[in-house]
Amino acid sequence: GQCVLVCPTGALGERDEIDKALDFICDPELTTVIQFAPAVRVAFGEEFGMPAGTNVEGQMISACRKIGVDIILDTNFAADVVIMEEGIELLNRLKSGTKPTFTSCCPAWVNFAEIHYPDILPLLSSTKSPQQVLSTLSKTYLPEKMGISPDKIRVISIMPCTAKKDEAVRPQLSQDGRPDTDVVLTTREFARLLRREGIDLKHIEPSSFDDPYMSEYSGAGAIFGTTGGVMEAAIRTLYAVINDKELDEIELTQLRGFEGVRSATVDLGGPFGKVKVAMCHGLSETRTIVETILNRETDFDFIEIMACPGGCVDGGGSLRSKKSYLPQAQARRETIYNVDRTTKVRQSHNNEQVKSLYKDFLEAPNSEKARHLLHTHYSDRHRDMQHTVKEIWDDITMST
Ligand code: SF4
Repeated sequence: GQCVLVCPTGALGERDEIDKALDFICDPELTTVIQFAPAVRVAFGEEFGMPAGTNVEGQMISACRKIGVDIILDTNFAADVVIMEEGIELLNRLKSGTKPTFTSCCPAWVNFAEIHYPDILPLLSSTKSPQQVLSTLSKTYLPEKMGISPDKIRVISIMPCTAKKDEAVRPQLSQDGRPDTDVVLTTREFARLLRREGIDLKHIEPSSFDDPYMSEYSGAGAIFGTTGGVMEAAIRTLYAVINDKELDEIELTQLRGFEGVRSATVDLGGPFGKVKVAMCHGLSETRTIVETILNRETDFDFIEIMACPGGCVDGGGSLRSKKSYLPQAQARRETIYNVDRTTKVRQSHNNEQVKSLYKDFLEAPNSEKARHLLHTHYSDRHRDMQHTVKEIWDDITMST
C-alpha cells in the first residue's frame, strides 16, 4: 500500500479492525485489495446524511483511492462467479435427484445450520460466498495476472454484516494458515475510518473501477444484496445453460417481495421442466422452513436463505432504524433493482471478466481447479459444542 494520508497507527492505544486495515494500507511493502458487497453501496451514503437508497458506488471508489488502497475490486463480480459455480452444482444435484439445495452465501445461516441443524449440512451448496470467492481469487488469480507475490497481498472487505467477520476466520477459508480475507469492516466501521481520515463522502467526486480483472458485474450480481436476488440471478443463468438461450422475461417478479417465506414454481425448460424454489429471510422463518424439510413436508429443489430480514440491504453491520425499517430497506432495494435494470449485462454468464476468469484460469465452472479454490465444507458444530461442554464438565468434576 502507498499511504497518502497521515497514518494514525500508534496514535491510539486501542487496536481495532480499523487500525488493522489502515496498517495494511500504510505498509509500503504490501499491496492492499479492497472489495465491497452488493448492498453496501446503497446503504453507505446514509452514514453521511444522504437519503436512504442513494447509490454511492462511485464515491466509495474515490474514497478508497484517497486513503491509499492499491486495488479496488467489486464483490458483485464474485457474486457472478458464485452463480456460475452454484448453478452448475445445482444442475448436477438435480440430475442426481439430491434436493433441496440451500444457498450458502450468508454466514449467519451457515453458522445456524452448523450449530442447530447439522443433518442438513450436506444439502448446503459447497460454493464459497462472494466475499470468500473474491478473496481467494485475489491471492491466486490476481497475483498470476499482475505478477505480485500472494504473500504481499492483503484483502480488506467492507460488508453490511458482522457475521462476515466470523466467516473470514473460518479455518477452512485460509491457505497455509493465512486467511483469505485479512480484515472485514462493517459499513459502520468503514464510515468511521473515512471520518477519521477527514473524508466526507458527500463532498467527493465519484469515479469508476479501473481493475481489468475483477470489478465488472452484471445486474444479476448486483441483486444479490436483497432477499430473492441470489435465486433470481441463479435462475437467469440456469435457464440459459439448459436451453442455450436467454430467458424472455428477465425480471422474475414472482421471486420478489418482503414476506418471510416466498415460494414459486419456475420453468427451467429442458429435462428439468418446472422446479420448486423458496426464498426465506429472517432466522425464525428459516427455522420453520428447515423443520418442514426435515419432516419431509415440502419438496423444494432450491432454497435461498438470508438471516437478516430483507437480506443484506438491511444487514446488521449497516445503519438501522427501528422506527423506519421498511421504507429504508425498500429504498435500498429499489436502487439495487435499478442498478440491475440499467446495467448492460444482466446475467452472470455474460459478464466478460467472468468469461476471462474461466478462459484464462479456472477452465470451467466446477472444474477441478474451481472446486479446489472456490468451494468449501461445513462442520457439525452441534457435536463440537456438546464435546466442549463435556470437556468443561469433566475438568470441573476432576478438579473437585
Ligand atoms: Fe450478513 Fe445478513 Fe447478508 Fe447474511 S443476510 S450475509 S447475516 S448481512
